[in-house]
Amino acid sequence: MIRLCIWNEFRHELREPVKSLYPEGIHRAIADGIDCEGIDIRFATLDDPEQGLSDEILNNTDVLIWWAHLAHREVADSLAAKIRDRVLAGMGLIVLHSGHMSKIFQAVMGTSCTLRWRQIGEKERLWTVDPSHPIVKGVPETFTLEHEEMYGEPFGIPDDGKIVFMSWFAGGDVFRSGVTFQRGAGKVFYFAPGHETFPTYYDRNVLKVISNAVRWAAPAEYFPIECRKWAEPEEKVQ
Ligand code: ZN
Repeated sequence: MIRLCIWNEFRHELREPVKSLYPEGIHRAIADGIDCEGIDIRFATLDDPEQGLSDEILNNTDVLIWWAHLAHREVADSLAAKIRDRVLAGMGLIVLHSGHMSKIFQAVMGTSCTLRWRQIGEKERLWTVDPSHPIVKGVPETFTLEHEEMYGEPFGIPDDGKIVFMSWFAGGDVFRSGVTFQRGAGKVFYFAPGHETFPTYYDRNVLKVISNAVRWAAPAEYFPIECRKWAEPEEKVQ
């Protein structure tokens, strides 16, 4: 079983207009919508004890999904560092939408992660860039979201990202909306759709992408981060 933890800030859903759209929270909408076969799901939110991620929970998570937008700064630096180390050791990380400005995404990217944005509810069209990638399996070559927040270039991510999806917006912008990275032993996927006032996490294509991404990001094994103390030579050295 893949041990998936869906971490959600879970503040905006406590009030309208988001409350009506995601009454149980974005985390539960995602859990209800993805293909759960072989996946064991737990939830964590910012206002849970230890901000939802105790050592015990983090050390028993294979893939972490991260959604947040209002309270990035409230996440403890020490927690972001612990999550980063867990990613480097092999845990998969899926960062959704406004999670691009989270401490954990910035920590694993090492860059600003900034972008252009516009919230007028315009149409977004996503295009599959790499039809061979496991994340796009069963996803149409192109699909639309009738209303989304525009995220546009330049996007402050490193150049080693592998682009899986590109988006076009009705206002004319384009964006690298699905990008994968390898950080240490961990796989990282950033996926842009998911503004909280739109029903994006009920869209079957978006849910299919997230389902695939969880399976893609799950580690086969972990590689603890350590500098070994002394390496004996394998060959006789003069
Ligand atoms: Zn948004």
